[in-house]
Amino acid sequence: MTSPVSPLPIPLSFEFYPPKTDDQRVQFDRTVRKLKAHAPQFMSVTFGAGGSTLSHTPETVQRLRSDHGVVGVPHLTCVGGSREEIRSLLKLYRALGCDRIVALRGDLPSGMARTGDLRHASELVQLIRDEHGDQFKIEVAAYPETHPQADDAHVDLRHFKAKVEAGADGAITQYFYNPDAYFRFVADVRRLGVGIPIVPGIMPIANFSQLRRFSEACGAEIPRWMAQRMRAFGDDVDSVRELAADVVAQLCQRLIDGGAPGLHFYTLNLARPIQAVLQRLT
Ligand code: FAD
Repeated sequence: MTSPVSPLPIPLSFEFYPPKTDDQRVQFDRTVRKLKAHAPQFMSVTFGAGGSTLSHTPETVQRLRSDHGVVGVPHLTCVGGSREEIRSLLKLYRALGCDRIVALRGDLPSGMARTGDLRHASELVQLIRDEHGDQFKIEVAAYPETHPQADDAHVDLRHFKAKVEAGADGAITQYFYNPDAYFRFVADVRRLGVGIPIVPGIMPIANFSQLRRFSEACGAEIPRWMAQRMRAFGDDVDSVRELAADVVAQLCQRLIDGGAPGLHFYTLNLARPIQAVLQRLT
């Protein structure tokens, strides 16, 4: 059997949501097997804010590690959770052998009033550092197009810096389609004295209407030219897929050429849109 090799000169990582049903687990396993061939540095698993006891994140991380032999990295959100819930999850992740974590504030599901003990991701990073020293490599979120709830871009940059000062080792960005937003963000935080690697988050396009909905919620901008070209293809699914893969591959190439330290793909548990992008980059 040949070992998987990454086609790219920089590390790749893939993000999944935890499957909850048998069908979703079958799809998850299939996608992991396909993407494993690209030799990712790690595969991460999202965590639903405010629902730690219902979360399937720990078992999915365990599945990645034991069934697939890949480095499974949990996301951990603090909003809606108590310090004790967060502590017991960290203990569990240590027991599973995790040494890396993506630390986030999270967003409360609409209608959920419980805010939790920690209000910002910086407080979560601080708790992890205070109680676990250097046991975890901590990644945090970054927003090249500014977090949608931030008062303004400058304030948001200062809040990002606070997460780094609390002990973050690296950052993964929200997805974007304008590479200049990423390069500008990196230049801005470097001017503020932040030196950690900032890995761009890449959202391949599987379904354009769904992407539009996501983007409205998370504040990611879809360039007008891109939306117009996608719309012009209407129901011509093959042409939409081709254009989507071309656009995202060109974005990745610009990021690699511009010095991005890695690429983190949001998979939505699907392999095909990512494979189409990676094929264009090899
Ligand atoms: P924070 O860094 O706390 O920032 C959130 C907002 O609060 C920003 O507007 C910031 O400017 C502001 N802020 C920060 N500190 C302060 C302060 N001291 N005073 C006042 N305002 C402040 N969500 C999930 O629910 N589960 C996941 O698994 C998940 N994974 C993600 C992975 C990545 C790579 C990314 C980019 C996002 C992910 N998210 C996830 C979404 C994320 O939880 C949301 O974007 C959330 O709204 C903000 O989380 P944060 O960690 O960036 O929060």
